[in-house]
Amino acid sequence: MPADFDTIVNLAKKRGFVFQSSEIYGGLRSAYDYGPLGVELLRNVKDQWWRFMVQMRDDVVGIDSAILQSPEVWFASGHVDSFSDPLVECKECNARHRLDKLADTNTCPTCGKRGTFTEPKEFNLMFKTHMGPVETEENQIWLRPETAQGIFINFANVQRTARMKLPFGIAQIGKSFRNEITPGQFVFRTREFEQMEMEYFCHPNDAADKFQEWIETRQAWYLDLGMTADNLRLREHEAEELAHYAAGTYDVEYLFPWGWDELEGIANRTDFDLKAHIERSGEDLTYFDQETNERFVPFVIEPAGGATRTTFAFLIDAYTEEEVNSESRVVLKLDPRLSPVKVAVLPLSKKPDLVETTKRVADSIRGRWQIEVDITQSIGRRYRRQDEIGTPFCVTVDFDSLDDNQVTVRDRDTMAQDRIPIENLETYLADRLPR
Ligand code: ATP
Repeated sequence: MPADFDTIVNLAKKRGFVFQSSEIYGGLRSAYDYGPLGVELLRNVKDQWWRFMVQMRDDVVGIDSAILQSPEVWFASGHVDSFSDPLVECKECNARHRLDKLADTNTCPTCGKRGTFTEPKEFNLMFKTHMGPVETEENQIWLRPETAQGIFINFANVQRTARMKLPFGIAQIGKSFRNEITPGQFVFRTREFEQMEMEYFCHPNDAADKFQEWIETRQAWYLDLGMTADNLRLREHEAEELAHYAAGTYDVEYLFPWGWDELEGIANRTDFDLKAHIERSGEDLTYFDQETNERFVPFVIEPAGGATRTTFAFLIDAYTEEEVNSESRVVLKLDPRLSPVKVAVLPLSKKPDLVETTKRVADSIRGRWQIEVDITQSIGRRYRRQDEIGTPFCVTVDFDSLDDNQVTVRDRDTMAQDRIPIENLETYLADRLPR
């Protein structure tokens, strides 16, 4: 049973994961700020992606390209002509909707009236702005709507300088902007968001195999980080759904509280993008295979996910309400690699010598993990708070600690407690907190 949407959103706000952007001015719809816990969770998701996609592989390197790019990029990629969604407006209540996302294309979900939609109009999703002080058409540029093009335009730079041989990938994490017609469902669909994309370049004859490989590899990533298998599925795009550049696409979908929806798209982009940039720029973006003496334009397999959207899915998936010893508790059963705080160090009471020892214990491990020291309220309430934010371990300093130099370590999931000498604490935790 998926977690209740409002409950997750309330938890995210109450505990400081996510705030509405510009809240003190009434909020800017469709943009969000990540608070102290949210920024850690989001960063951990991105770090795990980078570790899996770049660090642990010989065949993938990373880049960080600029958000502002030559307008030529977006002409070449087809975004100026084709990056649009069908917009309809209800003549009754003036609400605007994305036609392809409506459950019933004849009924306005805002006012419930039937047959009141205008003819669909293609609405380009790119944010426009101007470069420099003069607002002329020549100075018009766009905020990037995807990180992928920053990779394609650097294909030759990266291949040459990193001396990469096919097949190889270039990965990037960064902000993208889309003027979505209907943003919503909290951070699921926003107008400013973060993507995690990788372009895997290969020989055209290998593309079908590599496509299958990446579909499996990407699913494995979510499962390895603890996402519930029953909440994850693959869905193949219908022919009419395919993006203008894709020969085939599978979406990794998650069972959100409102139903199945996309987490990531894995597409066979063929040689569409490189060819388009070769044509428009006149630069040589071909690849020469020295072994076969063959020159060709590589095909590209692209796993494209959303960092902010995936973070939200991990939060939803981890949310658990359970009965323990006839008491109910809320616990975020996040994989410890994703938990915003790895270890909470808590003195049993506010007594100065307990607090002092607590700080000493905290200082001895804070170079290694994100930790939190919490000295207020009863120990039970502090445990509950840490459960609610998904902290895998609570270390409690009690009066005996002052004599025996030992602390109690409580496990979030089992709530079992171990008594550990302070000098062994780091090793104890390191054995249980994978990187
Ligand atoms: P949709 O059909 O939902 O608009 P899309 O298929 O256009 O999405 P892609 O272009 O494939 O999305 O982008 C890759 C990933 O980037 C998506 O799977 C999603 O995780 C993320 N993403 C795309 N648009 C948004 C958005 N507006 N807000 C948050 N994340 C997004």
